[in-house]
Amino acid sequence: MPDYNLHTKIEFLKGVGPQRADLLKTELGIFTFGDLLLHYPFRYVDKTQFHKIRDITTEGATVQLKGVIRRLDTAGGGRKMRLVAKFKDDTGYIDLVFFKGISWVQKKLVPGVEYVVYGKVSQFGRNFNIVHPELEPVTAANLQEVSSLQPVYPTTGKLDGKGLDTKGIRKLQKILNNRLKEIDLPETLPAYLLEKMRIPGRKQAMLDIHFPKDFAVLQQAQNRLKFEELFFLQLRLLQIRSRRKNAIKGHVFETVGEHFTRFYNEKLEFELTGAQKRVVKEIRNDMGHGKHMNRLLQGDVGSGKTVVGLLCMLLALDNGFQACLMAPTEILAQQHYISITESLKGLGIQVGFLSGSVKGKKRKQLLQFLQEGIIQILIGTHALIEDWVEFENLGLAIIDEQHRFGVAQRASLWKKGRVSPPHVLVMTATPIPRTLAMTAYGDLDVSVIDELPPGRKNVETLHKNETNRMRVFGFMREQIKAGRQVYVVYPLIEESEAEAFEDLNNLMAGYEAISKDFPPPEYQISIVHGRMKPADKDFEMQRFVKGETQIMVATTVIEVGVNVPNASLMVIENTERFGLSQLHQLRGRVGRGSDQAYCILMSSFKLSHDARTRIETMCRTNNGFEIAEVDMNLRGPGNIEGTQQSGIVNLRMADLAKDGRILQTARELAARIIEDDSEFDKPIHAPLKAYMATVGKAKGWSRIS
Ligand code: ADP
Ligand code: MG
Repeated sequence: MPDYNLHTKIEFLKGVGPQRADLLKTELGIFTFGDLLLHYPFRYVDKTQFHKIRDITTEGATVQLKGVIRRLDTAGGGRKMRLVAKFKDDTGYIDLVFFKGISWVQKKLVPGVEYVVYGKVSQFGRNFNIVHPELEPVTAANLQEVSSLQPVYPTTGKLDGKGLDTKGIRKLQKILNNRLKEIDLPETLPAYLLEKMRIPGRKQAMLDIHFPKDFAVLQQAQNRLKFEELFFLQLRLLQIRSRRKNAIKGHVFETVGEHFTRFYNEKLEFELTGAQKRVVKEIRNDMGHGKHMNRLLQGDVGSGKTVVGLLCMLLALDNGFQACLMAPTEILAQQHYISITESLKGLGIQVGFLSGSVKGKKRKQLLQFLQEGIIQILIGTHALIEDWVEFENLGLAIIDEQHRFGVAQRASLWKKGRVSPPHVLVMTATPIPRTLAMTAYGDLDVSVIDELPPGRKNVETLHKNETNRMRVFGFMREQIKAGRQVYVVYPLIEESEAEAFEDLNNLMAGYEAISKDFPPPEYQISIVHGRMKPADKDFEMQRFVKGETQIMVATTVIEVGVNVPNASLMVIENTERFGLSQLHQLRGRVGRGSDQAYCILMSSFKLSHDARTRIETMCRTNNGFEIAEVDMNLRGPGNIEGTQQSGIVNLRMADLAKDGRILQTARELAARIIEDDSEFDKPIHAPLKAYMATVGKAKGWSRIS
């Protein structure tokens, strides 16, 4: 008997010649038996049920019938010629109609032989018929196979041409399935997990996923494979985390000292929300015990992340360390600097500011103070991570609005610690669904602020179109009269030059229309877009920040972080062109003051289903986490902003939008194992050790990502 295994080259499978093998490799990345096995069906056609002809009452239904052909006739002539087979079961007759390949079908179909017929019912006058049904003669051997769940496989046009359509691939899978009985397919999960999860073994699941006997069996197989996939992913992420924590000695912040206490008691003007308190506690726990912290802090816009970050920085100071806060833009960094120096006034804490615009003598002085430890908190842009910036003793680095920074930038902060890396806290205002956070940032600790400070009003959000234009302008006028400011936002998507050009035109046209309706000197308008020089952009932005202009016409460059509490209305143009998380992010620019804020979503009349869902979601809720869930359902987990850079894995079987519970369980179980036996040395964990050793080594089969 030939010695097959999962690494056997695909050309050695019966039915696959060199030509087909090449296609399978180039089109589907299938090189080995194991790869083919991992080419899962993406759906199943239910052929477990047989219908009766008598029960066919609606057009469009897909039915499976069992019976015999009584007669074959041709009807019509020329191009209208068709072949009609009178098909009968024990309840009645139905016509099977063929327009193409008539002579071939005629030869193949034999009256009197029993067939299984599968197809879609159409109505023809008062009668029903089935056009071009699938037909299989019934034999004792295939009856079971015919009446089952039939797997449907992803293919490509090129494969179809070589007989490797879904039916062709199904045939190969069948051959492989039969081979599999002789192939060694080791179990990867410890026995106690199989028992605990009540899932079948690996081999059984692999057999069943392709040819399930029924839905119950299919579900078992799917559960097993989903669990396995998510479990190993979590195991790997948590192992990375555990190894890092063990390898890096974290600075110990054990004391809660004067800085923290005085700020908390004397300066803090509000009570922290429950969520803020919880997160501060989580972070203190991390930093208090000599483990290195690498934490993601998620919180919706306005949830109060800054003060949490500030408290942590004070904790660093209390323990003799410096801290820094890095923001993605100059404006944001400045805003942080201003508000933080303001709130620390009188505490005798030295705060410095560094960005590309700090130059010459000023910069030299700053860098010296930093090196000597005179500056205790440094706030700035990515200038902070330049090589020539040296701290005396950096203990904590905070990154605000993380998705603007790459992983590399995050990593270069690590080098800023003198003896060992600083604790790192990454704050993001782009909430991502929990399941996604666990996966994309699964090697980090994640904290969530899921509560807004009390008294916060939702931004009232309305959907309007061009016929409401004058009323929208009227509303803008009202807001401005009341002393408020207004954003008008246009898309500027730079996917292609042509698109960008058209967007820019739209923006300018909009600007002109607004200028006409809001003339000077009564009204002043700012305009900002990504194609302007940074200096001009900053200048315009500052005019709006200072209240010199009442209307800001802009593209999404204002998306991140600008804080103008006096702005109470945002009008978004061509809303259908924005993504959901982007809309949420934009809307976060208003409602930062105590006034009721509004967001008007302008769109055309005709909207795609997805666009409608996005707009409805925005009108329905202000909750960023809820919005993120909808976004993930619409776009799939791989496309969610804030996760691209993390190299999120492509899952074959599990779906982060649907399999949250399995994921949660997988993570908990993985965490328990890592805590107990992080290198899988215990005998019961032998399968894990074996499997993890192959991860990343072999291509394809043992790849989990
Ligand atoms: P974000 O999470 O978007 O960065 P900020 O930290 O900028 O939010 O906070 C938004 C505003 O809410 C700030 O003006 C801040 O002072 C205020 N704030 C933060 N926490 C609270 C709280 N617990 N109670 C009241 N106001 C708060
Ligand atoms: Mg913020």
